[in-house]
Amino acid sequence: MITIAWDVDDVLNNLTGEWLKYFCKKYDKDISYSELTVNPPCEIIGVGLDEYLKSLDEFRMTDIALNLTPNKYILDWMKKSGRRFNHIALSATSAQTACNGAYWVMKNFYEYIHSYNIVPSYRNNDTISRPFKDKGEFIKECKYIDILIDDSEKNIERAKNAGALGFLVKQPWNKNGLEITEILEKLNEL
Ligand SMILES: [Mg+2]
Repeated sequence: MITIAWDVDDVLNNLTGEWLKYFCKKYDKDISYSELTVNPPCEIIGVGLDEYLKSLDEFRMTDIALNLTPNKYILDWMKKSGRRFNHIALSATSAQTACNGAYWVMKNFYEYIHSYNIVPSYRNNDTISRPFKDKGEFIKECKYIDILIDDSEKNIERAKNAGALGFLVKQPWNKNGLEITEILEKLNEL
């Protein structure tokens, strides 16, 4: 059976969009989602990397983050075709906030995704165990992942280098991404 690894933030959910609203309200800024053409968007939003990551981690622990709406196209596709595949979640969230990520994935996708995995992002002076330095290494070492669906060009490149198929989900911060609906159609052809 084909195993699909789903990135969580900005693939299964719209975390960055909701975080941006939270950030703009707190810092009294007016920045639109389509302006986020670089990731991390520090220059665009006018704060340093530490402050950006702090804000993101803070947001991940809010009720808003716990109640993000799952992507409806993916959820509909799962209902129709999800049972043909094995699904895992593969997130690069911070380890400190992954409890909420795991909760969110299982709450919304428990019928289809039964494994939540992280390759933790770095945070200042953390001592988190990192058996895999990135998603590419995770895919290479774990051997059972056939496809990665992710919004990061780097992760897609790493997945391909590790021998998996990669589908880049279109977002303002990447180039050559596909709409999620196009990716789901391609999965139907497999
Ligand atoms: Mg993502």
